[in-house]
Amino acid sequence: MAIQQAAPTEVKAIDCLHYIDGKYVPSLDGKTFDNVNPATGEKIGIVAEGGKQEVDLAVQAARKALNGPWKKMSANDRIAVIRRIGDIILERKDELAALESLDTGKPFWLSSSIDIPRSAYNFHFFADYLRSLGTEAYQMDDVAINYAIRRPVGVVGLINPWNLPLLLLTWKLAPCLAAGNTAVLKPAELTPMTATVLGEICSDAGVPDGVVNIVHGFGPNSAGSALTEHPDVNAISFTGETTTGKIIMAAAAKTLKRLSYELGGKNPNIIFADSNLDEVIETTLKSSFVNQGEVCLCGSRIYVERSVYDQFLTKFVARTKELVVGDPFDPKTKIGALVSEEHYERVTGYIELAKQEGGQILTGGRRPEGLDKGFFLEPTIIVGLDRSCRVVKEEIFGPVVTVIPFDTEEEVIDQANDTHYGLSASIWTNDLRRAHRVAAQIEAGIIWVNTWFLRDLRTPFGGMKQSGIGREGGMHSFEFYSELSNICIKL
Ligand code: NAD
Repeated sequence: MAIQQAAPTEVKAIDCLHYIDGKYVPSLDGKTFDNVNPATGEKIGIVAEGGKQEVDLAVQAARKALNGPWKKMSANDRIAVIRRIGDIILERKDELAALESLDTGKPFWLSSSIDIPRSAYNFHFFADYLRSLGTEAYQMDDVAINYAIRRPVGVVGLINPWNLPLLLLTWKLAPCLAAGNTAVLKPAELTPMTATVLGEICSDAGVPDGVVNIVHGFGPNSAGSALTEHPDVNAISFTGETTTGKIIMAAAAKTLKRLSYELGGKNPNIIFADSNLDEVIETTLKSSFVNQGEVCLCGSRIYVERSVYDQFLTKFVARTKELVVGDPFDPKTKIGALVSEEHYERVTGYIELAKQEGGQILTGGRRPEGLDKGFFLEPTIIVGLDRSCRVVKEEIFGPVVTVIPFDTEEEVIDQANDTHYGLSASIWTNDLRRAHRVAAQIEAGIIWVNTWFLRDLRTPFGGMKQSGIGREGGMHSFEFYSELSNICIKL
């Protein structure tokens, strides 16, 4: 996986306040909820619980800031401020990575080598992208000339999940700021710490007060729904579950907000017999189990061509058994804890369901020996299920994969597409023509051939079907975060 790094043992969990108009503030009624470390099950801090009133204050601050120094700042200065946020994230990398691991249960080597550096890079990337950003111009013979100008959408609500807390939040915030908007962030209730620190980082980088606001809380009847219902919020960018997306769409419809959605997935990993099996297995270990399988892009449905099915399973099971599950701060650990007790119950519930549906568990399915506290689960491989089973159809979002053999290209395409999700897919083959042919028929927004999770931030990122609406990345993010006005001049 990645280079192992020693964790800073001195980093302690923090209590989380809201960040509104450049100040850290408690809830008006003093309400809080507990923050729990998933690796121990113990309370590590408290989090301010916001609702309508705190969201209202944050939205007011964001609206005021739209027309303040932020608006007057030159593009060059804005680029410098946004780049500086990335720089400070890198300067504080180990501290942020430790907080991320305390919150999520993910290994420290993962948060320090992927989550936090990628969060910094999101700011560097979108700041740099802004330099070359243009618009359209069309001449109508000698009659008229059209050109478009770009302006901010306004106040944008950014609602985030818990699996890659700072990475996904910054993936939204960086282009949102680059396009000149102001933001109200609603971090996931399970993972509030790095978002909280981001307020201070933005301030230190020179972001004017009110441009970035953070309100903690839950979804329904809490900060989340208050944000989606607020009449002065112009757009919502949401990453989370498909079912939540449906609720938010209904709430946002009342004020016709612009929406960007990155939702759930049940991604196929299609392995043809002509692929390099050793390479397949090393990457499939990651695409199945990295971050405890809590990545929306994880390939949880593995389809293997029948002639190499047994060989694949033998090697895949053996390598999976070698993955060390345990303390996120132990450098030997490959798989940390699931994010919460509730999620642990949900994932293990699917393992029980797999047994009822006739599945056979080849490895995993249990809490590892000696890890009595925290929400640890062995990486789990299930066979013997078919496309009619719920375990094959529904997103589990944990270290659980199903492996199913196939005989023909047509059959595997049909199975891969037999889902209402359409986020990502991996195809493994050394046959060039087949790679193109199959990729064009798989219903997913992100398709990898002979790899997984390889990302160029300029490319369109997002899902088809019920996995999302719109795309993020490069130009696509700027399209969402800007309003275009066409100006037509008669010559
Ligand atoms: P979730 O939908 O439960 O919560 C996401 C966020 O929405 C949280 O901040 C939550 O408080 C908020 N929320 C919940 N109900 C709300 C409501 N009624 N109104 C407003 N806000 C509300 O998702 P989760 O469990 O945090 O995250 C896991 C899900 O996210 C999985 O389905 C995963 O596939 C998906 N995900 C998708 C992508 C992607 O890029 N497509 C990336 C990461 C995660």
